[in-house]
Amino acid sequence: ATPMSIIAGVGRAAEFGVLVRDADALQRASELDTLVFDKTGTLTQGAPQVTQIITFNGFSEEQVLRWAAALEQGSNHPLAKAIRDRAGDMALPENSQFRTLRGMGVSAQLEGKPMLLGNAALLTQQQIGAEQAASLASEQAAKGATPVFLAVEGQLAGLLAIRDPLRKESVSALQRLHGLGYQLIMLTGDNEITANAIAREAGLDRVIAGVLPDGKAAAIVQLQQAGHKVAMIGDGINDAPALAQADVGIAMGGGSDVAIETAAITLMRHDLHSVVDALAIAKATLRNMK
Ligand code: ADP
Ligand code: MG
Repeated sequence: ATPMSIIAGVGRAAEFGVLVRDADALQRASELDTLVFDKTGTLTQGAPQVTQIITFNGFSEEQVLRWAAALEQGSNHPLAKAIRDRAGDMALPENSQFRTLRGMGVSAQLEGKPMLLGNAALLTQQQIGAEQAASLASEQAAKGATPVFLAVEGQLAGLLAIRDPLRKESVSALQRLHGLGYQLIMLTGDNEITANAIAREAGLDRVIAGVLPDGKAAAIVQLQQAGHKVAMIGDGINDAPALAQADVGIAMGGGSDVAIETAAITLMRHDLHSVVDALAIAKATLRNMK
């Protein structure tokens, strides 16, 4: 190998806003066959919005939104922001005993009542029946929205549908990556139906959904054990261990500091076309050395 040409490749990448940690990272980036993408904020805009509120068991839309927003006061999840934004300047009751239930939702006590807000897995775990909402929730999920359930004192009170549209360049960037022959996978904690709908729209080959935050790195290990050379592309919110486990971790610009510290490659621009640039430069550099 001629290290000089690799150094030139690292320099060329920088001209494209692609920061490569070292020569070894560029080498590994030239040998990948599988690209794993985080969903929220990587393939999607990461700015979800509440598109519908459905109520059950006599609760009003106003109650459901007010309580949901009050429950989310202590959460920095993108879904929490969507719910707080929708509530606008509504007066919110104070919550006590707030808990984040990682990869599932939140719980707290509001107006003296225990409440839960989160996904279907959370309701199942807490043995809260949601049969009434099942078909409406899957209808929303099939359209790519994430269903978020509110339970009040163990009873289903509402369903909020939250949509996070694709980034405008996702489809075209993934098409280019397919053209280069990569297998494209989405990795997400979101439910399977929503994830599949978004994956179809974006043009991914495969979905690994319903993964708890700690399971993301394990999902990468499984692909590696199946013989794949894997890149993980994410913003480091929840996915830093997966970025570290991948053969090449690629941090999207504007992501967390953890992502930048962990990743072999950092993209200065928050643009999926930079992923294409990074991999094309890595391949061209290593090809020229042979
Ligand atoms: P990802 O980063 O892949 O979206 P997370 O592990 O952050 O995955 O979340 C997985 C799922 O858990 C979300 O899709 C949502 O259904 C639920 N969830 C997590 N946090 C919250 C929250 N603060 N409010 C409502 N639902 C949540
Ligand atoms: Mg995430």
